[in-house]
Amino acid sequence: MTAAREQYEAFKALGLKLNMQRGQPSDQDFDLSNALLSAVGPHDTLTRSGQDIRNYSAGGVAGLPEARELFGAMMGVSAEQTLVWNNASLEVQSHVLTWALLKGLPSSTSGWATQKPQMIVTTPGYDRHFLLLQTLGFELLTVDMQPDGPDIDAIERLAQSSERVKGVLFVPTYSNPGGESVSAAKAQRLAAMKAAAPDFTIFADDAYRVHHLYPHDRDVAVNFVDLCAAAGNPDRAFVFASTSKITFAGAGLGFLASSAANVKAVGGWLNAQSIGPNKVEQWRHVRFLEEYPGGVEGLMARHAEIIAPKFAAVDEVLSAELGRGGELASWGTPKGGYFISLDTTLPVAKRVVELAAAAGVSLTPAGATYPGGHDPHDRNIRLAPTRPPADEVRQAMQVVAACIRLASEDYQK
Ligand code: PMP
Repeated sequence: MTAAREQYEAFKALGLKLNMQRGQPSDQDFDLSNALLSAVGPHDTLTRSGQDIRNYSAGGVAGLPEARELFGAMMGVSAEQTLVWNNASLEVQSHVLTWALLKGLPSSTSGWATQKPQMIVTTPGYDRHFLLLQTLGFELLTVDMQPDGPDIDAIERLAQSSERVKGVLFVPTYSNPGGESVSAAKAQRLAAMKAAAPDFTIFADDAYRVHHLYPHDRDVAVNFVDLCAAAGNPDRAFVFASTSKITFAGAGLGFLASSAANVKAVGGWLNAQSIGPNKVEQWRHVRFLEEYPGGVEGLMARHAEIIAPKFAAVDEVLSAELGRGGELASWGTPKGGYFISLDTTLPVAKRVVELAAAAGVSLTPAGATYPGGHDPHDRNIRLAPTRPPADEVRQAMQVVAACIRLASEDYQK
């Protein structure tokens, strides 16, 4: 038996049960927001703007004014340019995309569904973006995610090639899975770029906009709404985010920032679907986040204290076990977000994930970061270190390193 197999078998014999699969907050993260559960009581049902949160909304479907202001500020836009909806940003994304297919966006001449629409996505990327777009009937066009954001030359070529190319959906800050952030220069080019479709749209899923890991070493989130306005394409950008990784996952608020005209149009569609979003949730988020020491920024700093050591554990163990030379694998060291993207040097990602599963460590399925679950290079693995405690992350990464060594050795046999 080789040393690599021996070490792997030793890990296997431990009967571990570790999960590094989904990007979920830990209970320690959730505990930071427990006061949310009692942030609104029987005597606080009237908002500052005079709405009774127990009744249907008096102010329309775009959300409580206080919530629009708070989350607008987080996105760098005005309340008028912000719409706050219910519990998940993916739902907000799907509403906008669905209405775009049926009716077209304000900048469209007709609905997209009849135009065989195509959407540019970045790879490696987020499996749920691919699932949503493909389920809605978009044909996906992939471009590489680079250290400073999407391959902008490729986007430009595609956007100018056909009116069917309706836009690009990607994560602009601390991307899933690589942690890359789009540079100011690329964002500016995207905002100003010529496109064949008059309604070419930037769908920026800014899920990790405020999720910095370090107080003084941060990527700067771009402001697509302002950039597009300044470039003469005021309605080009929709920016989405949520509180899923700020307060409670899937039990908070999803929202969007865009031009006031787009917000009005989306509000019009949502008004046909609903009398309004859940104002109780919006009001208690406003109260909780306003009262939290340092506000959203203060809360995110507390999350960073919990999460940064887990990211450090991944890098430390992988560096110690595999070296930083890229002989067997290379990986990122993002300054924020929820994921680390690892590439095996040989095409063995699937085998690594299988070996890890057999040794009790569950990883995101290999291929998940590509449309259809198929990584053409079989090299990418998304590591999600946020949920387990740091010592479990450490142990899981030792197993992963052993799996990479064994899979690489077997491949070369
Ligand atoms: N967008 C990205 C990029 C994500 O990584 C996630 C969570 N993994 C989501 C959206 C989901 O957000 P929500 O719960 O608001 O739908």
